Amino acid sequence: MRAPRVVAALAFGLALLPGLTASDGRADDAPLPERQQQASDILAKLDSKLVPTREQFVAGSVAFAIYHELGHFLIDEFDIPNLGGREEDMADAYAVFELGPHAAKEQMQSAVRLWLNVAYMRGATPIAWWDEHSLDAQRAFQVACFLSGRWPETYAGLPEAFGAPARRAGHCVTEAYRTQAAWVETLRAQSAAVIHKQRAKVTYVPAPLELTDTQKWLTETSLLDGIALEIGRYRLPDWRIEEQEASAKLPPARARDMDKPHVEVVGKSCGVANAYYELPRGKRSGGVFSGQGAVAASNPKLVLCYEFIQLVRNMAQQTLPK
Ligand SMILES: [Zn+2]
Repeated sequence: MRAPRVVAALAFGLALLPGLTASDGRADDAPLPERQQQASDILAKLDSKLVPTREQFVAGSVAFAIYHELGHFLIDEFDIPNLGGREEDMADAYAVFELGPHAAKEQMQSAVRLWLNVAYMRGATPIAWWDEHSLDAQRAFQVACFLSGRWPETYAGLPEAFGAPARRAGHCVTEAYRTQAAWVETLRAQSAAVIHKQRAKVTYVPAPLELTDTQKWLTETSLLDGIALEIGRYRLPDWRIEEQEASAKLPPARARDMDKPHVEVVGKSCGVANAYYELPRGKRSGGVFSGQGAVAASNPKLVLCYEFIQLVRNMAQQTLPK
């Protein structure tokens, strides 16, 4: 039985973020709230090792966000088992292991910085213990831990920048190995046959005037096209194959539906800074998968909001040298 989903979308975890200025009306000389001070100290330690350019920070953060959403998509399409962690952590791990071998180390470290900056921005706001995502600084640490555990020669010392003792930093090696092996083995089984490939369509919804520059930036990176190619590596899940085979028995005009894209990768303005995975509608009823013969009324969507790119651009401007 497929896992029931009672939500319509899974987001990147920025929904509760207060404004970018996190001074909270504090006087300039007042001490920082403890969590902000910690985030700021860790960032300073990272600065002593490696400072990304603004462009590297933006590119790394945006790539991490959309690969995180690709992780949700794969978990959902293939009903990937979860042995007790948060799905959000699984999606972060997917982003690290999928991007890690390809992205520049400055870009990968940017994912660590992103969550530390977010922790700083939240300032002294109450911790949402119930949130699906781990706490921002924990997400930063987990990315650092996976990076240093998997590629120790490139990312040595990252967990220690968080104050992790040697024992904990050493455990990152095992954690990274086990987690990556789990993803690789699971996805190997889902590799695409030539027929029955996932087909993704990339769409850029025209941005409002204040975000046209951001849309242009995203288009020029070809990041979403890379995601679409990535999706083409995977086969269709069984329930979609049944649907395809059924439509192949129909007259030719209908059978051509088989070549329709099954997934959409979308850049758009969402009104908030975030990224999310939107579940297919009509695939399940009453929150439970409705079984054989179910027809998707809409395709799943991986959405990157232009506002998120704008947010990380602002972060880059405020926290990194030109
Ligand atoms: Zn998520």
